[in-house]
Amino acid sequence: MCVLKLKPAYKDYLWGGHRLVDRYNKEYDGEILAESWELSCHPDGKSVIAEGPWAGKTLEEYIRAEGKGILGENCRRFRDFPVLIKFIDAKQDLSIQVHPDNRYALKHEGQYGKTEMWYVVEAGPGAFLYYGFQREISREEFAQRIRDDTLTEVLHKVPVQKGDMLFIEAGTIHAIGKDILIAEIQQNSNVTYRVYDYGRVGKDGKKRDLHIEKALAVTNRVPLVRAKNSYPHVADCDYFTVDKLNLDGKMMDRMEGCVSEESFVSILVLDGEGTVACGKDGEQRVTYRKGDSLFLTAGSGRYVVEGRCDALVTTIRSQSAPVRIGIDIGGTNTKIGLVDVHHRLIDTVSIPTKTERDPEDVIADVGKAVQELLDLNHIPLDACMGAGVGMPGTVDRENGCVRYSNNIPWENVPLAEELGKILPVPVAVANDADCAALGEAVAGAGKDVSDMVMVTLGTGVGGGVILDGKIFSGRLTGGCELGHMAIYEGGELCTCGRRGCLEAYASATALIRDAKRAALADPDSLLWELCGGEIGKLDPEMVFAAAEQKDPAGMKLTDDYVRHLGTGIVNIVNLFRPEAVLLGGGISAQGTVLTDRLNSCLKAECFGGEHGQIPEVRTAKLGNLAGMIGAAALLVMEG
Ligand SMILES: [Zn+2]
Ligand SMILES: [Zn+2]
Repeated sequence: MCVLKLKPAYKDYLWGGHRLVDRYNKEYDGEILAESWELSCHPDGKSVIAEGPWAGKTLEEYIRAEGKGILGENCRRFRDFPVLIKFIDAKQDLSIQVHPDNRYALKHEGQYGKTEMWYVVEAGPGAFLYYGFQREISREEFAQRIRDDTLTEVLHKVPVQKGDMLFIEAGTIHAIGKDILIAEIQQNSNVTYRVYDYGRVGKDGKKRDLHIEKALAVTNRVPLVRAKNSYPHVADCDYFTVDKLNLDGKMMDRMEGCVSEESFVSILVLDGEGTVACGKDGEQRVTYRKGDSLFLTAGSGRYVVEGRCDALVTTIRSQSAPVRIGIDIGGTNTKIGLVDVHHRLIDTVSIPTKTERDPEDVIADVGKAVQELLDLNHIPLDACMGAGVGMPGTVDRENGCVRYSNNIPWENVPLAEELGKILPVPVAVANDADCAALGEAVAGAGKDVSDMVMVTLGTGVGGGVILDGKIFSGRLTGGCELGHMAIYEGGELCTCGRRGCLEAYASATALIRDAKRAALADPDSLLWELCGGEIGKLDPEMVFAAAEQKDPAGMKLTDDYVRHLGTGIVNIVNLFRPEAVLLGGGISAQGTVLTDRLNSCLKAECFGGEHGQIPEVRTAKLGNLAGMIGAAALLVMEG
């Protein structure tokens, strides 16, 4: 058999309607039909084969008889049948709910977690659904709002219309609103944690159970900032890939495809009628009409859909390697992190770089440490998408080569090539400050914007420019050196040999230099007390502490410092007009003391004043983890 027509399992949940019977050809006698499980091997409701020699048997029985091979190579990694496909007719609001991810569900529920996608087949005027939070809320607030029935006030309400697609990752709070008919493709799971049910009672006259503790444990309480991009598919994730098939019956009335050995093909017909032929010379042919579910077994080869057809086509692709290795090589230590698809660190390790050795030895040690960290976490190397490396100095990103590094004495080291020999995965290399900026952009203080600049205030002044989610460092090797823009022609001597660079005024080194001068000029300054009379011990914190205590020298130093840094940042804004400017490095620990004043400075001095949009200056969030996270993100940065 290469094409099977399936009959669904029915569910009469109290919020359902009758449209699936009235308009989608479902043969069902009851008053309410909430869901029809159109492709299911789930124990709670299995699809049954409708026609042919196997008529009346469940799809599961068929698979057991024919072997799992008919699901395709890509389904081998699933313990159970991978997906569950349904129609859902919500006449009333569904409960507000959340589903756990695999990790939680397999451990606590013995079945898969649930990532799902909704395709809106019909929606009444004013129809909406809830999808995630409007803002980040604490676990306490979440629990409190469940208790006082005010949860909907903080949920993100999305108006929907026919044809909309929503991708609901496990852990996302959601609810389907009334007057919506949805086609749902989800992981094969029936685990739902209800958090609010509008106080309704079930058929037994009792309120349905809520699962608040579990929901609190699995819900992602952070708002979704970017919608998942599945281009060119309708939806695409490790669990399923969904495409749209449109044949209008006139301009397009025939589609020919191939069911490969890799995956079965499921066709859920939303509208239309026609035939599907499959096998050699199309020997097997079934008719379809609106509401039908067809299943084509893997390896069936050519198939032809003819007629008028508006359908969702679901397949299973190979798993996109979920783990990325992020490496931040520094002058003293090298930090290695395993990073998941959400840019979260799974585990980290730090090893001494020992730069006095040959580059080959340093690289060999890094490779070994990565392998040990993977072993420790039971992650096979082939589950890794690759390794990203951040490296101080001038990096040729295209060739993964370190042209020159100052603090690590390397010249023309083919880092990507060498590391690739030890770790046979793709390796990407970039400047470490660029990596830190990218880390903040994907997982830190710049997560909500696509254009941002990070300025790092450390021993020197470094930085990275992120435009449209990507590192901007120019096409030519050499990079963007924000710290070496001159803010005073002929000013203080900079480490780069020029005079008047931002670094010569805004680095910690520069601030300490100025503080020494100020202390020597003012014997009464509080700075002397703070450094215990030893001027060599002055540091930036002391300068800010003196200013806070209204010491005139300290106040002048911080005023000058903010003015210099502000001038540099205004220049950056005038060049790139990013959505945010992030401050990193030691001095950024001053937090709002610094950012408040810089924000006023930007308002006053950026080109166009209030006629333009002024970006916000923020403090970076990830500290010294940004480099690793950003290095790992090199692997998924497009372009
Ligand atoms: Zn759900
Ligand atoms: Zn310079």
